[in-house]
Amino acid sequence: MLIPDIIIAIDGYSSTGKSSFAKLIAKEFGFLYLDSGALYRGVTLIAVEHSLIDGSNNIDEEKLLALLPGADLHFETDADGCKTYMGRRCIEKEIRSLAVSRKVSPIAALPSVREFVDGKLRELGRRKRVVIDGRDIGSTVFPDAELKIFMTADPEIRAMRRMKEMESKGEKVNFQDVLDNVRERDYIDSHRAASPLTKAADAVVLDNSGMTMEEQMVWIRSLIAGRFGNTASKS
Ligand code: C5P
Repeated sequence: MLIPDIIIAIDGYSSTGKSSFAKLIAKEFGFLYLDSGALYRGVTLIAVEHSLIDGSNNIDEEKLLALLPGADLHFETDADGCKTYMGRRCIEKEIRSLAVSRKVSPIAALPSVREFVDGKLRELGRRKRVVIDGRDIGSTVFPDAELKIFMTADPEIRAMRRMKEMESKGEKVNFQDVLDNVRERDYIDSHRAASPLTKAADAVVLDNSGMTMEEQMVWIRSLIAGRFGNTASKS
């Protein structure tokens, strides 16, 4: 299906499968996929590796901000499937670790960090034909995005998905720890002052608790066909 040059914003709770869904949408329509969470995770990795966040989540914001411009966080596609880089270093595995997951929400709550990440995303999104997943893409980063999806699912189902994903990468984890982390991130993400996780008024809700990925693809194809199917420009 040919569709026009649009921005597709996919927001929602953690571990709702936003990134897998966004990647498949990007593949199907020939769009570029941008993972905003990976940038927040990359910033968090910098904070963790430089010991700029302590056990009580006190953050040395000044030192962290000083490191960001030179860190060269970016996306790249390589033959091994690594997508997120810090300079020449692939950081895909490190940014998905529980150590980073535990610290990412407090880091992402800093307005200065959000400004840094938003700037990178807006720069990349200028080309249109992008699918971006995150928490505030449709509400704050790209309020004019032509299609906004808000994803949700039961916390236990999300924790189970996250646990399987981590186990498949060789990380041993306990279900309760993962569930606690999912709930804690939901709480911090929804209650922070700066760009809290919120459904944009014009976003379409997708609760995928009982849905397979193929069912979600059927759903989005029909949504996109209904909205844009007859207004396609060639890609
Ligand atoms: O999407 P992912 O779970 O990888 O994101 C990691 C964390 O980054 C989230 O829990 C949230 O705290 C933060 N985030 C955010 N805004 C976004 C994307 C992610 O605050 N647009």
